[in-house]
Amino acid sequence: MPAKSRPRTRQPSPNLAFPDVRPDEPDGSTDARAIEVHHRLCREYGCPLGRFRDLDPLDELISALLSHRTHNRDSAQAFRTLRARFATWAEVRDASTADVEHAIAASTWPEQKAPRIQQVLRELTARCDGRLSLDFLRDLPVADARAWLESLPGVGPKTSAAVISFSTLRGKALPVDSHHHRVAARLGLIPEGMPVGPAHRVLEAQLPANWDAQQVYDNHQVIMRHGKTICTWRDPQCRRCVLLDLCPYGQARCQDRPEATHDPGQTLQ
Ligand code: SF4
Repeated sequence: MPAKSRPRTRQPSPNLAFPDVRPDEPDGSTDARAIEVHHRLCREYGCPLGRFRDLDPLDELISALLSHRTHNRDSAQAFRTLRARFATWAEVRDASTADVEHAIAASTWPEQKAPRIQQVLRELTARCDGRLSLDFLRDLPVADARAWLESLPGVGPKTSAAVISFSTLRGKALPVDSHHHRVAARLGLIPEGMPVGPAHRVLEAQLPANWDAQQVYDNHQVIMRHGKTICTWRDPQCRRCVLLDLCPYGQARCQDRPEATHDPGQTLQ
């Protein structure tokens, strides 16, 4: 986080709505705050939330690779074009890279993503006796399935979690996208400056072990939605935010800028 975007160090105001939670408390309080954040946002956005698509695990993996640093509508367009242009993933694997790059032109960096997608498909072919399917992941423990996915080129914790959670596997895994990461950082749920990769493990560990896959899915979805609508990158609406009393960043921002409604200088991503 650039220095200019950091809230000044200031004692947060007392948390009257949730008195047992203090943002600067050591171990234990962060988990309680993470759960309180979840419950408040679930009330706001109406959990349990419906699933937004039904892709099989391999489709979801390719979709996730296309989504890197790309608006949802553009990566969705790239995925649709790719599926329309090629009848099977084997055809994508064996096509000229230029043809694949052309098909995914709606995505950012198609010149990098096209060879990466083909590399992943070739790797899958080699590892799975020629079958291009990830359905076998359903039979593995989630940790093993994620480790298997993350051994593929270009696949990190966000992509492995997306495949497990968003695909028809419907497994228990917490993806952390840029919105989720930003909101978590402002709330102090992750240490300042922690990259998104390690943040996956920290944020998932804050959730109760007995939560089911839907609850973990909801957790990501509500925090992501909050980041898109209220806790935006440039202009967080702290005075309208149901998390303000839990949020050191929001409290400092409101104290520093009593009338502030817009802060174009923030560069948190
Ligand atoms: S109080 Fe402000 S910074 Fe904190 S979560 Fe809400 S909108 Fe984001």
